[in-house]
Amino acid sequence: ALSAKNVPQAPEDPLYGLVNAYLSDKSDKKIDLSVGVYRDDNAKPWVLPAVQKAEQLYQCDPDLDHEYLPIAGLPEFINAAQRLIVGADSPAIRESRICSFQTISGTGAVHLGGALLSRFLPLPTPAIYLSSPTWAIHDQIFNNVGLAIKEYPYFSSKTKMMDFDGMISVLGSAPPGSIILLHACAHNPTGVDPTHDQWGKIAKIIRANRLFPFFDCAYQGFASGSLAQDNFAIRYFIDHGFELAIAQSFSKNMGLYGQRVGAFHYIACPGSGAQEIVERVASQLAILQRSEISTPPLFGAKIASIVLNDKEICADWEKDLRTMSGRINTMRESLKQGLDQLQTPGQWGHITSQIGMFSFTGLSKSQVLSLREKWHVYMVETGRISMAGLNSGNVRYFAEAVDDVVR
Ligand code: PLP
Repeated sequence: ALSAKNVPQAPEDPLYGLVNAYLSDKSDKKIDLSVGVYRDDNAKPWVLPAVQKAEQLYQCDPDLDHEYLPIAGLPEFINAAQRLIVGADSPAIRESRICSFQTISGTGAVHLGGALLSRFLPLPTPAIYLSSPTWAIHDQIFNNVGLAIKEYPYFSSKTKMMDFDGMISVLGSAPPGSIILLHACAHNPTGVDPTHDQWGKIAKIIRANRLFPFFDCAYQGFASGSLAQDNFAIRYFIDHGFELAIAQSFSKNMGLYGQRVGAFHYIACPGSGAQEIVERVASQLAILQRSEISTPPLFGAKIASIVLNDKEICADWEKDLRTMSGRINTMRESLKQGLDQLQTPGQWGHITSQIGMFSFTGLSKSQVLSLREKWHVYMVETGRISMAGLNSGNVRYFAEAVDDVVR
């Protein structure tokens, strides 16, 4: 008879295992630098004032109900999310060669894109290339939809900068038709992004080798504080006529983590038939979406839609983005200053040159474990820290802890 008796025990998710260890630590000095969530200067979750305003407006809406959304999601959210990610003046919108679906946040968008690509790529299905390292869940998501996974070099642990030559060399030898997963900005986990000039070179090799770019955009506005600046790469590729896919998340930039707000976008390259291509893609996305989640959730999309469509609230949101990215940058400066003052051995310039939620500190696994055991500092074993876990009350303590474990 069918039984689960042979189902093996799976390991706990390493990140959430760490969160549990942090929660059960009784020390009043403990610091959580593990999960990528924004915290204010008191180490508390921050509901963005713009989001609060939108929630109030929504609660007062006399037409508020709890009906199902359409399969593709809330139209006014989807349209605004589309304008945000490609730019309101984008040729992709003007020429009706973009289709967009509301998803279960960025994770769901990566998954929906993976499911689409794995189902409709020509056989034999090419591989998807992920940066080494990348967000830990990419590998699992693409595995789940049956895509073969390969890696391209991205980060040099020696220089703590991009391994640009390594990346270009592997992209240059990837078989045509391969999917290349790119982080649009604020690369997770390294905090290292290509320069504009490097993006140009990446686009060139992708074009020359007929590869397919799939952008994961989980931090628009969160990296530099500017929505447009953080989307340089996506707009560059669209302006240069690429066919591409985008996974968009509103978890970090609107602080809507638990509401699961995101979108998947597919853009056809310009030319006759582009509109029909995206119509056909949309018809297939509708089938996938219906069979997996039926229709996406309502509340978060309503809130995000109010923020994006109300001029005044949207301006407030841009201010909130500057508050978050500004505080994180201040923490980068303070940490670097602390390490300099303590004359901590090693080079720490990367702390301030990296961008976004994370920093790849270069601390070794044994140093990370000492930080946990001796100093009650919780971070993942790769040495990545979530900068938002630092604040004016604990950054000096963290610098002292790092100084201790590297000596
Ligand atoms: N992609 C990247 C690179 C991420 O860092 C994250 C979150 O950490 C996500 C996607 C998905 O986030 P969510 O599903 O919460 O929107």
